Amino acid sequence: MKAELVIIGTELLLGETVDTNAAFLAQELAALGIDLYYKSTVGDNWVRIIEVMTQALARSDLVIASGGLGPTMDDLTREAISAVANLPLELDQEAMKMIEGYFQQTKRSMSENNRRQAFLPRGAKIIANHWGTAPGMIVNIQDKIIVALPGVPRELKGMFTTYVAPYLSQRITAKKTLVSRTLKFAGIGESQLAELVHDELLNQSNPTIAPYASLGEVKLRITAKADSSQQAYELIQPVEQRLIHQLNGYYYGADHETLESVVGAMLRERQETLAVAESCTGGLITNRITNVPGSSEYFDRGYITYSNQAKVELLGVDPSLIGQFGAVSREVAVAMAEGARARAGTDWSLAVTGIAGPAGGSKEKPVGLVHIAVSAKGNTKAKQFRFNGTRTEIKFLVAQAALNFLRQEIKDTE
Ligand code: AMP
Ligand code: MG
Repeated sequence: MKAELVIIGTELLLGETVDTNAAFLAQELAALGIDLYYKSTVGDNWVRIIEVMTQALARSDLVIASGGLGPTMDDLTREAISAVANLPLELDQEAMKMIEGYFQQTKRSMSENNRRQAFLPRGAKIIANHWGTAPGMIVNIQDKIIVALPGVPRELKGMFTTYVAPYLSQRITAKKTLVSRTLKFAGIGESQLAELVHDELLNQSNPTIAPYASLGEVKLRITAKADSSQQAYELIQPVEQRLIHQLNGYYYGADHETLESVVGAMLRERQETLAVAESCTGGLITNRITNVPGSSEYFDRGYITYSNQAKVELLGVDPSLIGQFGAVSREVAVAMAEGARARAGTDWSLAVTGIAGPAGGSKEKPVGLVHIAVSAKGNTKAKQFRFNGTRTEIKFLVAQAALNFLRQEIKDTE
């Protein structure tokens, strides 16, 4: 079954509202094993809605429309489906009762406009809306299906999950399931990664492998299609193993795992503790570490030592080091890490010092220059990085590199 989405609403074309319904529907269709080939967004305009709907019906078996089912004059989806399907709009008593019931239940008064929402194309199956007033509908035209749902995300999600998904899964004859797994890599760029796994990327069919780059990391999404999710996982498994093997060192986790959750899990397993000393990241690393539930088991404290004085007072950094090498230097990063570990009495410490910009850079020490140090039991290592981006991007990239450095160091002591 080939599916197509028609997302309706002028606010979406103006960029005022971000289209989350399409993402939700796309994921749901994938889980049902229905191929989604097209997605269009169209404003609340009669002529263009009809144009898009007609095109969708010509090339797809299932058209799912979102939006335009409200009570006002710019809500045109009912009328458009009626015109495209050539089925007159008729008052649907069941829909009327549902709308009246919703108003009674929420103790609000119903306006005359809401009556419009009870008019459906002849023969349409109504989809109950327990989350709002606009009923949805399923319209069958020969062997094609149109599903129309309201645009309010909560209503659309509720109705799709409760009614539409079971309806569609009944209609699918050859049921296939799509399963995806996302592998995450840090410390490597997208093109370098793609080069390392060039052959894998070239020779893919089922599963497929798609690289994605986001700020400070690269992802590989492996997607398999099979009769059951178990079988799909079995197709994914060997490919996943090969990719991780080839990209060993850069791979840090899969799906919902983050650098901070992975580092946390390693520390918890070893029953070791961590302290962090941050300058240019201003607490971002500590924030990320403590976003992980249960982090109190291994995270002891974070020092935000922004000024030179704070580095001296809170971490015991020797002022002459700062005088000689500057606050953004390998020497100061090392002293910060060692000071934090000594004062907190933890097994590990992580320290960062750098220039987040946009001002404050110089020829020798440009914006984006960062020194990161990791200290553990008599051994402190430091690395220098250089990042590009806005101030917030650089802060995120520093946090990403720092967490990844710590991850590698913990791993190396295994
Ligand atoms: P509608 O059903 O077209 O009256 O939409 C009602 C409200 O739902 C709109 O004002 C938007 O705030 C929201 N909305 C509509 N379509 C979408 C969409 N595709 N994604 C996210 N929100 C939406
Ligand atoms: Mg609308």
